[in-house]
Amino acid sequence: MAEEIKLPPLPNQVVEAFNQIKTFEPVIKAIAAAKDEQERTLKDQVEITEIEAAPFHEETRAKDFARRLQDLGLTNVRIDQEGNVIGIRPGVGNGPRLVLAAHLDTVFPMGTDVKVRREGNKFFAPGISDDARGLAVILEVLRAIQENNIETVGDLLFIGSVGEEGNGDLRGTKYLFKTNEEHVDGFVSVDGANVNRILHGSTGSRRFRVTFEGPGGHSWSAFGTASAIHALGRAIAKISDLQVPEEPKTTFTVGTIVGGTTVNSIAASATMEIDTRSVNNEELNKLVDRVLPLLQEAADEENARWKAEGDMQIKVKIVPIGERPAGDQKDDSPVLLAARGAMDALGIELKKYTCASTDQNVPISLGIPATTLGGGGTEGFNHNVKEWFDATDAFLGPQLALMTALSLVGIKGRSEPLLPKRN
Ligand SMILES: [Zn+2]
Repeated sequence: MAEEIKLPPLPNQVVEAFNQIKTFEPVIKAIAAAKDEQERTLKDQVEITEIEAAPFHEETRAKDFARRLQDLGLTNVRIDQEGNVIGIRPGVGNGPRLVLAAHLDTVFPMGTDVKVRREGNKFFAPGISDDARGLAVILEVLRAIQENNIETVGDLLFIGSVGEEGNGDLRGTKYLFKTNEEHVDGFVSVDGANVNRILHGSTGSRRFRVTFEGPGGHSWSAFGTASAIHALGRAIAKISDLQVPEEPKTTFTVGTIVGGTTVNSIAASATMEIDTRSVNNEELNKLVDRVLPLLQEAADEENARWKAEGDMQIKVKIVPIGERPAGDQKDDSPVLLAARGAMDALGIELKKYTCASTDQNVPISLGIPATTLGGGGTEGFNHNVKEWFDATDAFLGPQLALMTALSLVGIKGRSEPLLPKRN
């Protein structure tokens, strides 16, 4: 089902900027090279994929990525305390600062076979697309700018971030914006393959691990003892009945349950993991404020049912295991206009204009213009060892990232930056 995308036309200033950029000789050459020499992007992608980068174990891939940035001529590459790789390509001065980011981590544990198998245009390996493609694409953008000596007005910050996936909980970008070691005016992440998609907003999430604990006992001889599993069941029944708004979209689920020991025991312990999400932080927090009290309520009801007192009572332990801020932007956010302008200039059709959860969540929640672009090609079985990447027309990814970035930071003597400087 194709959704209809209704957006106001691009302002003249944006159209004019792209007219200047796409007719500029060095850019024409850079765009052509991204296509004619796409094998070098694919080579980077394969080599990066074959360096394991399990959650919280990105160091080896980070060092390799830092070296690649240096090989392309950046002299100030560093790895920050959290593990992010940061390389800056300075502009001519006094311009905005744009981050081009891709994430270093994969979802696969250490020991996973990450050897890439190639069949024609198709590549197979865990992490080949998510996000080795993004890393290779931002390297190609840097290479194109360097080889063609394109002088930008603003600075470009090339970042390989850590901890984007799952329990990494965006720790890399959170660190970047919390410490403010680098001033940032705008943020573009390259993640996934689809070049026909622009993300304007971020789904936020808050996740909890909840454990009910009690004395447990024999199902026959200790009958009358409060049960951890029964308390958990009461909690799930209450959560299941919650009503949430369709707009802004807000959701919940109990994703996992574990508990008990044998069929003939009153359970001493039961644990569940709850995922709550929304595109709106206020709704997300409201939902969490309704969910959390239900957990104690469920334990109280189970205790009351069996008149349990003191040590015989079920107790609840709640541990937050994830928090990703939600946020959205107006259609006139400069990064969104730039991405659309670049797509128009390259003849790429916008088919999806939507929200998701990526490194962009952090800047968007802080009011910093940000989006996520696809790296080109097609992909399948992400987050699964059967992951594949098809490189047909994949050069559109680096071309899109390059044009978007150049329009935002501006080209000396050619186009003004579309990205404003923040105070
Ligand atoms: Zn990703």
